[in-house]
Amino acid sequence: MQEIIKKKSLKIEPNLKNYDEMYKKFKWGEVKDEIEWFDTKLNAAYNAVDRHVKKHGNKIALYWEGENKTEKYTFSKLSELSNKFANVLTRLGIKKGDRVFIFLPRIPALYISFLGILKTGAIAGTMFAAFGPQGIKDRLQDSGAKVLITDSELKKRVYEIRNELPKLKHLIIVGETEKEEISYEEEMKKASPEFEIEKTSPKDYAFMLYTSGTTGKPKGVVHVHQSIIQEHITAKWVLDLHEDDIYWCTADPGWVTGVAYGILGPWSNTITSVVFEGRFDAEKWYSILEKYKISVWYTAPTAIRMLMAAGDELPKKYDLSNLRHICSVGEPLNPEAIRWGMKVFNLPIHDNWWQTETGGILIANYPSIPIKLGSMGKPLPGIKAVIVNNQGNELPEGKEGNLAIKSPWPSMMCEIWKNPKKYNSYFKKNWYITGDLAFKDKDDYFWFVGRADDIIKTAGERIGPFEVESALVDHPAIVEAGVIGKPDPMRGEIVKAFVVLKKDYKPSKELEEEIKEFVKKRLAGHAYPREISFVESLPKTRSGKVVRRLLKKLILGEELGDISTLANPECIEKIKQVLQKQ
Ligand code: AMP
Repeated sequence: MQEIIKKKSLKIEPNLKNYDEMYKKFKWGEVKDEIEWFDTKLNAAYNAVDRHVKKHGNKIALYWEGENKTEKYTFSKLSELSNKFANVLTRLGIKKGDRVFIFLPRIPALYISFLGILKTGAIAGTMFAAFGPQGIKDRLQDSGAKVLITDSELKKRVYEIRNELPKLKHLIIVGETEKEEISYEEEMKKASPEFEIEKTSPKDYAFMLYTSGTTGKPKGVVHVHQSIIQEHITAKWVLDLHEDDIYWCTADPGWVTGVAYGILGPWSNTITSVVFEGRFDAEKWYSILEKYKISVWYTAPTAIRMLMAAGDELPKKYDLSNLRHICSVGEPLNPEAIRWGMKVFNLPIHDNWWQTETGGILIANYPSIPIKLGSMGKPLPGIKAVIVNNQGNELPEGKEGNLAIKSPWPSMMCEIWKNPKKYNSYFKKNWYITGDLAFKDKDDYFWFVGRADDIIKTAGERIGPFEVESALVDHPAIVEAGVIGKPDPMRGEIVKAFVVLKKDYKPSKELEEEIKEFVKKRLAGHAYPREISFVESLPKTRSGKVVRRLLKKLILGEELGDISTLANPECIEKIKQVLQKQ
């Protein structure tokens, strides 16, 4: 039986008042004027910040809670500072279409530089601060970035690969600088606060995010300026943002949620946002909700589960009475987490679904519709979502298959950077194939089943097994590796590696720890394998490809099916023995 929460008595404003009616008649053209145009052109940064300056210049756009200090910025101030940064870039010769990357913790310079880049017409690339030299190199090399903005701490990782990045002309450093580096603070002091914002076309490129697939290195997913239309309208309809709200999006702008709903969508709605620089800490998080009187909160299932683990007594110590709407994205939100939300906040948590590639929310539990616990919700007006089989033919309700979306929509990715083959591989018969498996029920609610590929989602972060395997085989003790996502009650999945050691090496706890550190430092702090099994060999096809699907089945204890086509079926029993001993 499906468990349903009807929310009439709860403190949620029913935005998107009549979902069914709106869904039937909505056309994207209707919301075109929610943003401001320069005739037929628009600029996402202008829409996020500058257009509010006249009427709401003194309104706080950003409350920044740093590790040891706090700052606040009005819309006027953000407009002025991002103009300055646009001037800094222009002086360095940056032009429309150039790639400018940001590798910073969640500090104000990240938000200012992102807006400044968009104002010049250049393409902003963001990188999560946990990346190591390999992760940084893959992204900067592939994008051919000309400028990187980083800080005096993170730059050390960039210098390890600096000479492999011939296209990277300038390093702008927040904090102490050396030699040829450019000081963010000094340049900002000198720069003019006036800037003529580039009048970009709706389909001009605005920002790019590298994301992982099953195979190969991460790919650059590129988004256009008009994506702000969808980000604006979903921030209103799904996140239910209203003028008086104080909003906290816990995502980092290194990931798409932190860009679309940590920068563009909420600010486009003239919303006051809170940014917390630090990492997850249950007490700190509750204290932020209290201190800033957060009313709308956008977070992720792993964070919610971590708060649950911190106990039901803790939230009682804080005044959370301003909180009126909670949303979650990034991984399946288990019904238990929603029930917990009801218990401790007297609010349900609204799950919604989208991806780096979709640029904005596509499926959601809207404030105005009942929540079916465990479902991602219903498609956004203007979005046709279906379930198709592997041939691209639509499947009826209740049947599991590939979640697909009728293309295009305003915030749809426009390119996989310099990789048309990969871009085209997403589409079948005019359907955009999401890579997720799902089904839809009789009421048009969509239910997530899993990934159709080997992508790993750990604590909401997307990791490609190939990247981790590549980092592992760079370790001197390792011959080959197979990496999968292992279900985990807290993080959704953890990265699990099966590795084959070179002849002279023996498995040990010390070696395991050393390998974990190696991947953490080289690739990324969040992408290292939390579990390693040392095996003699990995299941392979006759053409020599590691069959990750079997490794996953072994972990889950599932039926393996026919393994006779493997090049080395005998390895299976041996891997089972290793797993039994662990
Ligand atoms: P990313 O591109 O990193 O945002 O990851 C997108 C992927 O995260 C999707 O393809 C899904 O596999 C997963 N995902 C996002 N939101 C949800 C959700 N609400 N429920 C289940 N999985 C989700």
